[in-house]
Amino acid sequence: MNNSGAAKGEKAAASDQPPPMAGSSAMEGVAGAALRSIIQRVSQAAERSGRSPDQVKIVAASKTKPVAVIRQVYDAGHRFFGENYVQELLEKAPQLPDDIEWHFIGNLQSNKVKPLLTGVPKLAMVETVDDEKIANHLDRMVASIQRKPLKVLVQVNTSGETSKFGVEPRGCVELVKHVSLNCPNLEFCGLMTIGMLDYTSTPENFKTLINCRSEVCRALGIAEEQCELSMGMSADFEQAIEMGSTIVRVGSSIFGPREYPIKLPA
Ligand SMILES: *Cc1c(COP(=O)(O)O)cnc(C)c1O
Repeated sequence: MNNSGAAKGEKAAASDQPPPMAGSSAMEGVAGAALRSIIQRVSQAAERSGRSPDQVKIVAASKTKPVAVIRQVYDAGHRFFGENYVQELLEKAPQLPDDIEWHFIGNLQSNKVKPLLTGVPKLAMVETVDDEKIANHLDRMVASIQRKPLKVLVQVNTSGETSKFGVEPRGCVELVKHVSLNCPNLEFCGLMTIGMLDYTSTPENFKTLINCRSEVCRALGIAEEQCELSMGMSADFEQAIEMGSTIVRVGSSIFGPREYPIKLPA
């Protein structure tokens, strides 16, 4: 007795199988499917916070991810993407469709303002304005290249950690006033926070940002609805939305883990 007949039989049976079905998830790619699941969770969290899903924008944080994968998410219908490094954005943006709304979400140095604004003429928003100097640089560059006013968020360091991530909460109103009153080419749209240095955040960080918004709106005499809150990432976007976030920046939950780590500013 030997098993070769059975083995052959199995093999033959296996090769008679039709090829795996090209189901919709295979067609759209892993990232496209992940996006749909994130949209679902965002919608549910928005409803839990008594808002409609279209009141929360998902910015797909695509740093370190190749253009082909970003393209899959674009093809799944997404139009809002965020990048952290000027050089990386300058390489990717021209290879991708023109109707993408790019958000710059990284630490921005003054000497990168010109390449950023000239290299990405349709840049939609800079979320990381954290001092007057960078605000002034952006304001002057927008004027000099004669593009339309640039939407900005003021980044707040809500963790209390010594870091370069954002203005301290107590300096927030003053910086927002500077942007609103002295930077006619910038359009102040709200506040952003990352949370901790290691890119985690806590409900306390979100609470601090919410308090900053109250102070800012009182000082400027504007409604809270006119001040976006960009808070929440892969690990905590649902909680952030339940607390009132209007922009969530989601990376690894859409694109998978990053192959090289986030560079922290030196
Ligand atoms: C990378 C990044 C994110 C996304 O982080 P994930 O945890 O991967 O979702 C959000 N905000 C900023 C500023 C980032 O740099």
